[in-house]
Parts: sequence; C-alpha cells; structure tokens
Amino acid sequence: KLYNQVQDLKGSIRVYCRVRPFLPGQANCLSSVDHIEDGTITINVPSKNGKVQKCFNFNKVFGPSASQGEVFSDMQPLIRSVLDGFNVCIFAYGQTGSGKTYTMTGPKEITEKSRGVNYRALGDLFHLADQRKDTFRYDVAVQMTEIYNEQVHDLLVTNGSNKRLEIRNSSQTGLNVPNANLVPVSSTADVIDLMNLGQRNRAVGATALNDRSSRSHSCLTVHVQGRDLTSGAILRGCMHLVDLAGSERVNKSEVTGDRLKEAQHINRSLSALGDVIASLSQKNPHVPYRNSKLTQLLQDSLGGQAKTLMFVHISPEPDATGETISTLKFAERVA
Ligand code: ADP
Ligand code: MG
Repeated sequence: KLYNQVQDLKGSIRVYCRVRPFLPGQANCLSSVDHIEDGTITINVPSKNGKVQKCFNFNKVFGPSASQGEVFSDMQPLIRSVLDGFNVCIFAYGQTGSGKTYTMTGPKEITEKSRGVNYRALGDLFHLADQRKDTFRYDVAVQMTEIYNEQVHDLLVTNGSNKRLEIRNSSQTGLNVPNANLVPVSSTADVIDLMNLGQRNRAVGATALNDRSSRSHSCLTVHVQGRDLTSGAILRGCMHLVDLAGSERVNKSEVTGDRLKEAQHINRSLSALGDVIASLSQKNPHVPYRNSKLTQLLQDSLGGQAKTLMFVHISPEPDATGETISTLKFAERVA
C-alpha cells in the first residue's frame, strides 16, 4: 500500500499505442499489424527469408476499430487528477498521416462522436468542476502555442502577429510562457471557438505543398486553479495536450534548405523528448530538459509528481513498416 502511495506521489509515465484504420479507398490492403493482444502489438516485417514478426509491449494498444470515446475513457483519471492539483502531459507521437491530429482534435469535419481528446478533456474538466461546486471554485484558462524551428509562437492571437515567445520556468504563476495569451474558458463552446482560432493561425505560413502542421509541435495548455471554499486553500494543476510534428526521418539527400532545417529541428526536439522520458523512466537523477524548446515547454508536466501519457500512432500500410518499427522502438524505450 505504501509502495503504491509512493508511486502515486512520484507521478507516472504510461505509453499507449493506436493503429489507424485503412482510409476509404484502401480497403483491400493487407495490414502490417499481424495482431493485437492486450498490451502487445505484433508487426510483420518483410525480410529476405519471407517475413519475421516483432512484438512490442505497452500499457494499452488500441486497434483500428477503437472509437474516440473508448480511447478517451482510458484517459479520464488523468483529467480528474488535474482538478486535484497535478500536472499532466499527454502527447501524440507518430509519422505524418498516422492519426495524431485525429486523436487529439478529430477529423477534418468534427462531429460530437468524432471529437478528439482536447475537446473531451475540457468537457470533462467542466463537468467535474461543476460536480464539486459546493466545495471548490475552479477557474480554467487555456493557452495554445506552436513550436516551429525551435521558436515558440502564440496561436491565440487575433491580429495575425506572430511574435516569438520566451519560455520561463516561473513556478509562482505556473505560466511558463507568460506572454502567450491566456484565455479564460467556461464551456465547451468557448473551447471550440479557441481551437478554431488556433487552427486558423496554425495554417498561416503553410502553402498547399507545405503543410506546416505536420512540421511543428502544437500545444494546448490548460491551467486550472481551484479554491477550497472552506479553507480558502488554492490548488493549481496544468495539462499540456500536444500534437507533435511528424516523426518520419527525411532523406538528407532529397531535401535541402528550409525543409532540411525543419527536419533537423524536428529530429532534435523529438530525440530530446525521448531522452527526457527515458531518463525519467530509468529514474536517472539528471533529466536533460534544456536540450529543446519542446522539453522546456513541457518541463513542469514531465517528471516530479506529474503524470505523463505518451500516445504513439502507427499507420497500417505495409510500406510504412520502417517508420512503424522506429516509432514503436522509440516508445518501447520508455515503456
Ligand atoms: P497526423 O496528424 O498524424 O498527420 P491525421 O490525424 O491527419 O494524421 O490522420 C490522417 C488521416 O487519417 C486523416 O484523414 C484522418 O481523419 C484519418 N484518420 C486518422 N486516424 C483515424 C481513425 N482512428 N479513424 C478514422 N480515420 C482516421
Ligand atoms: Mg496532424
């Protein structure tokens, strides 16, 4: 029992995996996923002598038919802990096209059923806060930022300005990007408006050929402050919901200039994230947070008492097997 309490205080790292279904029009394609059993996923890897199978273990594996609701229900305890004053970080990792944005936000045309984690998490927060309203008063406010080429930008601007922001680790206010707009929200409708604004701003700078959203990290940060109505004590919790840049390796001989620079920034920040998570899970006393803007931004929600969920995504197509294996290896390093 004591051991469990200690574990709880120390926070935790969990790793989930989700396999995207084939897209309409791909129906007869054979999947690279051989089978899924509990937390184990088995991949068919083509080799010279026919095929070999590789297994990977995670806390949870969601197959292609898992619904948004099922996926979210496994995260609900994390959302609840934000109201109890814990910091939480949920991030979606995987190659471009593997379903990260689908999980975090939803498909292009979002319906109530296809809503992603971001909407559901805030919906849950409001719901739970309301249930506790006789004992606690909660205030919820959000920030939405993007990291592109190691620069942090505010996605909640209305004047189109796109100034760079500094990251500061100010434990006093709990705001580590103090100059990004902090917008109070009190309903799911408020959140939908803000997410739409953020999406529009994210599209700025993207051209038809150049979908910037797959080459930047976007982060919805939810700040929760609760006041105990009897004692007056204040609780603070914060949650980062992150849609990472695509993890695919680009062929250095094929890209040059800006595209190569972007790719190098992405590789470096994703490996910095992997290093941080790995040293936390190995209980290494030195955690290298300072190696990227991404890990600095998330520092307050990685390690310590924070609860972290790394959610890796894979595509089912056999020609994505190389990327699938490297994604699963990245995740297994910390699982
Ligand atoms: P990423 O953000 O990793 O680049 P997307 O979330 O944009 O990938 O997904 C690529 C395509 O696959 C989109 O058209 C998306 O709607 C669809 N898709 C992804 N995951 C699912 C899923 N679980 N169920 C149905 N469609 C999905
Ligand atoms: Mg995406």
